[in-house]
Amino acid sequence: MIIERIETFPLLHECSRPYGDANGYKKYRSCYLIRITTKSGYQGYGECIDWLPTLEKGFQERIIPYLIGKRATDRTNLTKIIKKWHMRSAAAVSMALTEIIAQKAGLHITDLWGGKIHDTVPAYASFQSYSDDPNWQEYSIGLVKKAIQEGFSMAKVKIGGRTIKEDQAHIKRMQQELQGDVQLALDANQSYDVMAARSWERLFQGWDNLLWLEEPMPMEKVEEYKLLRQVLSVPLAGGENMKNATAFLPLVTQGAVDILQPDTMHQDGIDGYRCTLQLARTSGLRVSPHAFDGGLSRIYALYAQACLPAMSKMDGDKIEPVEWDYMENPFTMLFQLKPQKGMYTIPSGTGLGLSVDEDVLNTYRWDGRTYI
Ligand code: MG
Repeated sequence: MIIERIETFPLLHECSRPYGDANGYKKYRSCYLIRITTKSGYQGYGECIDWLPTLEKGFQERIIPYLIGKRATDRTNLTKIIKKWHMRSAAAVSMALTEIIAQKAGLHITDLWGGKIHDTVPAYASFQSYSDDPNWQEYSIGLVKKAIQEGFSMAKVKIGGRTIKEDQAHIKRMQQELQGDVQLALDANQSYDVMAARSWERLFQGWDNLLWLEEPMPMEKVEEYKLLRQVLSVPLAGGENMKNATAFLPLVTQGAVDILQPDTMHQDGIDGYRCTLQLARTSGLRVSPHAFDGGLSRIYALYAQACLPAMSKMDGDKIEPVEWDYMENPFTMLFQLKPQKGMYTIPSGTGLGLSVDEDVLNTYRWDGRTYI
């Protein structure tokens, strides 16, 4: 089980029309896939998202030379060392080495993690609501309608990127047209203060279909989250950029949020990610993974969710939903696993149980150009 070869697949796609959230527009979507092969022929894939020139340089000049000749079974230690150099790259290596171990054992990844408890996991369709279109609200509502027609019953849309008045007009209109058909999460991407977040409460009281309010304020403002949670009638969610379970602790111990939202690509490898899930459950909190970028990292979030016991007896065997990137992004289909009528079905097989789409790898290969 000695690591013999590591290939990298930097992928880039220019969006046909920019779309965005409170942080600005996305003109490109990228993906960085790695494939690790051992001397005995076992293979595993890993994924991370960052600026491609940074990732390529880091892997070619430092990470690959370091990993060649190391034991694939030493995942914990290898991830720990690479994490000091680049956190997201370490997450990719962690995924690939996990798959290799499952392949060698002849087991599915969920078997390594104690076995899947759920054969299906609900998906919510996630949108970037802003665009340059003068009728951006209409366009945004049209996209959500399309997802509902495809069978999604949960959606997440953006607020915080326009004035409160404009954002509220958008959401009010969406609610007037779709409230009976969809449960809605609102994501402000940390752009509010307490006062701005509270200004939504009057509207919230008239709506019974809200899943959660996501990251209204910067996540380090734990005291303010705690205050806000006491006056809001909808659950508070957040934590997509947090690096490990320790980073979530202040939110958990101070009762500042209702739902944790770790991302497999931003945490201490896939094992660290699962540690955060355990923290949520042992603290009596819900956990709904953030999984907007990438295709493979979402599958790891999905498998971890399938192995997580339901939150409470009230929920029966129901599990919290996993995000599905509904926007134009060819890398959601890098591995062929798409929700059907708003539900993911966990595939069987060994390792990941899925193979990479070589067409996507070839079509979107980054040509080395600089992009912003
Ligand atoms: Mg978010």
